Amino acid sequence: MTERTFSIIKPDATERNLTGKINAVIEGAGLRIVAQRRIRMTEAQAKTFYEVHKERPFYGELVGQMTSAPVVVQVLEGENAVAKYREIMGATNPEQAAEGTIRKLFAKNVGENSVHGSDSQDNAKLEIAQFFTEDQIVG
Ligand code: ADP
Ligand code: MG
Repeated sequence: MTERTFSIIKPDATERNLTGKINAVIEGAGLRIVAQRRIRMTEAQAKTFYEVHKERPFYGELVGQMTSAPVVVQVLEGENAVAKYREIMGATNPEQAAEGTIRKLFAKNVGENSVHGSDSQDNAKLEIAQFFTEDQIVG
């Protein structure tokens, strides 16, 4: 089924000029970038976005990292886009990520791991709505 997922190219990646290389992996996997914008995430946006992790010990570090440099927020569309993007992102910790995945190729460590991808269709809808209006998504 064609569906959408939400992606963020994180500060560690934009700082190293990896946006194009990451987009090449995304497009190479058959996912279409149907919306994309480079922004500086505010502290409020980062806190809301990662609210589910607010009790975790790395929450402060995570919010600090996400606001440290520009990010690229994206909507990706394709067959089973949520699961497919999780697969090509690779494991959260790049040391455990499979060969050829974005995190294996580019991530620095478990915190600075280059990309975010939604973990369910429900979360994809909520995350997309935090950053895009429907008219900004051109499928
Ligand atoms: P994922 O991004 O793979 O869905 P999680 O939802 O578990 O992973 O965590 C959200 C983000 O929090 C991760 O992508 C990473 O940037 C950060 N993070 C997760 N675990 C750790 C950790 N043990 N130490 C530091 N940062 C972490
Ligand atoms: Mg997650």
